[in-house]
Amino acid sequence: MDELYCAGCGVKIQTEDPQALGYTPKSALQHDPIVCQRCFRLAHYNEVQDVSLTADDFLTMLSKISEHDALVVYLVDLFDSAGSWVPGLQRFVGGNPVLLVGNKSDLFPKSTNPNKLSSWIRRSAREQGLKPVDVRLMSASKNHGLDEVAAAIDHYRNGRDVYVVGATNVGKSTFINHLIQHLGTGDSAITTSRFPGTTLDFIEIPLGDGGNLYDTPGIINDHQAAHFIDPRDLKKIMPVKEIKPKVFQLNERQTLFLGGLGRLDYIGPARRSLIVYASSSLVIHRTKMEQADDLYARQLGHLLTPPSEKVDLPPMERFDFRTDQEECDLVFSGLGWITIKGQGARITAYAPKGIGVSLRSSLI
Ligand code: GDP
Repeated sequence: MDELYCAGCGVKIQTEDPQALGYTPKSALQHDPIVCQRCFRLAHYNEVQDVSLTADDFLTMLSKISEHDALVVYLVDLFDSAGSWVPGLQRFVGGNPVLLVGNKSDLFPKSTNPNKLSSWIRRSAREQGLKPVDVRLMSASKNHGLDEVAAAIDHYRNGRDVYVVGATNVGKSTFINHLIQHLGTGDSAITTSRFPGTTLDFIEIPLGDGGNLYDTPGIINDHQAAHFIDPRDLKKIMPVKEIKPKVFQLNERQTLFLGGLGRLDYIGPARRSLIVYASSSLVIHRTKMEQADDLYARQLGHLLTPPSEKVDLPPMERFDFRTDQEECDLVFSGLGWITIKGQGARITAYAPKGIGVSLRSSLI
């Protein structure tokens, strides 16, 4: 195929990878002018579609942002915060202010205290070396908190341009699509533009006062489960509605499996309550620790699902913990978390390399 370029954004056209920049189905190549699918959807459905970038391209793009005086709106997924942090973001956005927005708040039980959630996400940001000017929570898909986010953007941008950044799957497209409706921007006003000096296209949405909001491509973090889990399985581990906690009483030396993707061994002491917060499609299975290895070898992809087939997962990594607070959450990044009651509980956790496991004070 001769090299073709999109008539809309100028990106090089390719027909192989629907998730990557410049994708166009082969059948659309006969159209004149040729546009990439992203521009096509934008022009015809007034809808932005997320495209992903390699880490290098993403960092190039971020460092371009640092050359502009702008507000950076940084979206993270509250359910998979560990998987959605973009390493080194603060360094690359330069001196620009960052408004941190935690999305998917609708997945948390109604009883969750939003202040606790905000302070936790702010604290986690600080651990990443990020000092956001402010934090907001929202649910882009349920349209909760969007007015507050729009007002905060308006306040902190102070007339400047706005860049919306985030890892893939955090809900950036859903957010921008709602924002387009919220701003009441007509179809014709939205354009894709090539970022000066790079081949990356940004969606440009005029804000009415001469400034623009730019949607930037998302990055797939190598510590996101999306990296090695089949998209159908990924749908299963991502809750679609408010998480219903499931309580388990565990005796010493009992194991809980989170499908075939997470394992918690409760060593002791004493009998204890554990509360699992995860997608209802993730099979939670309890067994004796002594039988856990054998069960895993026989039942991965069957009883222990997802994964829905016995796939080659990365090797299991081991993590050891002892709880030091009355209520702690053992977090399996992207899968959910398990609240452990009482101090001094000894736990060994396992997850395929890539799914991080960590302990935090309980959020709920
Ligand atoms: P992007 O890759 O960052 O552009 O993310 P998308 O907007 O494509 O969303 C990724 C997935 O998260 C989709 O399945 C969305 O339906 C879902 N999603 C987006 N926003 C929310 C939200 O506020 N709550 C919930 N529960 N799901 C959301």
